[in-house]
Amino acid sequence: MRFVITPPREARAESDLFVLLHKGEIVVSATGGYLHPLSDICPLLKQSALSMLGEWQGVAVWVGIIDDLPQGVTTAGVRSLLMMASPDEFTILARAVQLTHWLGQHRFCGRCGTATMAIEGEMARGCPACGLRAYPRISPCIIVLVRRGREALLARSPQFAPGRYSTLAGFIEAGETVEDAVHREVFEEVGVRIDNLRYVSSQSWPFPHSLMLGFEADYVSGDITPQPGEIEDAQWWTPEALPDLPPSVSISRLLIDRWLAHSR
Ligand SMILES: [Zn+2]
Repeated sequence: MRFVITPPREARAESDLFVLLHKGEIVVSATGGYLHPLSDICPLLKQSALSMLGEWQGVAVWVGIIDDLPQGVTTAGVRSLLMMASPDEFTILARAVQLTHWLGQHRFCGRCGTATMAIEGEMARGCPACGLRAYPRISPCIIVLVRRGREALLARSPQFAPGRYSTLAGFIEAGETVEDAVHREVFEEVGVRIDNLRYVSSQSWPFPHSLMLGFEADYVSGDITPQPGEIEDAQWWTPEALPDLPPSVSISRLLIDRWLAHSR
């Protein structure tokens, strides 16, 4: 049974599973697991306020933060765990990281400064003084593979590992449609006009709270002109001669692999 997000509940059961974070990393047991049974983490629960993530295989999954790391456990970086995660594990980890990040940034009301409280039955924080509610923040981004015949446009940002190229991506602005964001980002980053947008799929990317909306589009006009400071280099690539590509867990790689499958 797939992981599903359910309304949060208060009571914990013996069979529940727990994801714990310590200083921004995931707590990992001696055997490498990070979905801890209640029996293993009973002493740690005293440290942690828990939030329910959802249900997986009929069992509730919770997340909490611990300040002190006991002996016998260690931590692992979120990115490294995501690289090896199954789709369900990816969702659980992405949700755990995003919710704890959001909770840490919404301890006080943004309007009047009063300490916020959990709202029963909802994933939300409420202000007991003025009634303002805060919900987990999600930042939608577009990510797009631009095609020109058999070629695809891949670019690299200055932060990428040497030799790596990826699809174009950027945040959707307030008040902007998804489609307009795709056209704007492509023109801003590489100076190219596109059309015929095709939605492909989406992916949560918890660094810290992006929702990637993946598209394909067709080249219309313009010469590649990399945006200074954002794009170090951008080129048209054929399936036969590719640069270093993003890891297979990423939606950018999914878009690239999909293009390759259709081009060969
Ligand atoms: Zn308030």
